[in-house]
Amino acid sequence: MKRTRIADIFNPALIGTDVCVKGWVRTRRGNKHVQFVALNDGSTIKNIQIVFDMSAFTDEQLKPITTGASICVTGLLVESMGKGQTAEIQAKTLEIYGTADTETYPLQKKGHTLEFLREKAHLRMRTNTFGAIFRIRSILAYAIHNFFNQKGFYYLHTPLITESDCEGAGAMFQVTTLNLANLPKDENGAVDYAGDFFGKPTALTVSGQLEGELGATALGQIYTFGPTFRAENSNTPRHLAEFWMIEPEMAFYDITDNMDLAEEFIKYCIRYALDHAADDIQFLNDMYDKELINRLKAVLEQDFVRLSYTEGVDILLKSGKKFEYPVYWGADLQSEHERYLVEEHFKRPVILTDYPKEIKAFYMKQNEDGKTVRAMDVLFPQIGEIIGGSEREENYDKLLTRIQELNIPMKDMWWYLDTRRFGTVPHSGFGLGFERLILFVTGMTNIRDVIPFPRTPNNAEF
Ligand code: ATP
Ligand code: MN
Repeated sequence: MKRTRIADIFNPALIGTDVCVKGWVRTRRGNKHVQFVALNDGSTIKNIQIVFDMSAFTDEQLKPITTGASICVTGLLVESMGKGQTAEIQAKTLEIYGTADTETYPLQKKGHTLEFLREKAHLRMRTNTFGAIFRIRSILAYAIHNFFNQKGFYYLHTPLITESDCEGAGAMFQVTTLNLANLPKDENGAVDYAGDFFGKPTALTVSGQLEGELGATALGQIYTFGPTFRAENSNTPRHLAEFWMIEPEMAFYDITDNMDLAEEFIKYCIRYALDHAADDIQFLNDMYDKELINRLKAVLEQDFVRLSYTEGVDILLKSGKKFEYPVYWGADLQSEHERYLVEEHFKRPVILTDYPKEIKAFYMKQNEDGKTVRAMDVLFPQIGEIIGGSEREENYDKLLTRIQELNIPMKDMWWYLDTRRFGTVPHSGFGLGFERLILFVTGMTNIRDVIPFPRTPNNAEF
């Protein structure tokens, strides 16, 4: 008999028909007359209740049905009398695929902490919480492709292995095939990369932006959506060593177009999740954060505040609030500052623009004042920075001067500078950290809980 996914089973048209379901047992309870099994197959947060009439089954047959066991059941789908469920299955046949020993199955009990489940990352997707989170993650990924596809953007694949660390976005993970126990050296004693795989030092990318700009100045508007790697030794609840980033890059967009796109994009993603992952979001709202749905809806209804870094710093200085990190013009804002502006001062998302050039990357368009660049960071409640972007410097001479001021090795940058030598255009782009978006949509507070297999300092197991 053909299997029906549990997500599809709560369909009134199926009532009164025989169905087949397969999945993992959440609980079994009952007495010697009747036994109830809650089954989940990952397709939805909902379990299907299976009723075993014990005049038709033996205790021996049901004994392997413990939490975590995998089974296949056929039976009659009927309307349910039980509260909170619309349908249940009156079992006719039972097949046990695999047992789960009650003594050793780590998820035997309910109510484990998120910390405990992080240690069991290989199994945690079987819990309600992580099932919900990773379904939402998948739906958001789809929403992102949908959004850009509808807007005529092309999906560009930028390299994961790169030669350049131009961004300075973070420390890089080196990629090499050299024998680390016996490194070839040149006459000065430095590592000789001539014999390395690429003949030069290479590393995992920290951002696809620079290559994205090559795409935008050819295809008009592109986006990347891929993993990025930063060897930042910061053990924060908002940083991963391997995370996914979405980086749209648009020719002929100025900073205002860029901000408009960022706001429309992020609202689209949140609305899409509310529309397509309602059950999972409701579950997380009820279990973890009663304000979650209100917060998501509030963001959809409000225009984001747009103000300059300088104005933002003024507000922080006048706030009279004691921050752990000092605030002054020129300081890189910390998430406590960002969250003060968003959560306490404006009570809605904020786009901060025109940052001091010293704290931003070399490629950002320089303002007339000679001090600031046309950067834009989108700041969110609970999160802080969720998007970082800018209008790009399209003027060859200005860009070159900045590269020289910062001592960025020119030999690495010739291909990038060619976009400004041949048919340069005004253009803009930004990067959204995918996991930070998922943090916001799920209400989770630790970034390790929104990626299936988090990579952080000292943690790369499964
Ligand atoms: P932060 O100041 O929070 O470290 P950043 O300024 O280094 O961020 P960008 O280089 O602008 O960030 O990267 C673009 C986006 O990628 C950020 O807005 C954020 O959403 C996300 N991001 C950056 N670093 C990480 C990380 N280590 N783990 C997860 N997401 C990240
Ligand atoms: Mn960073």
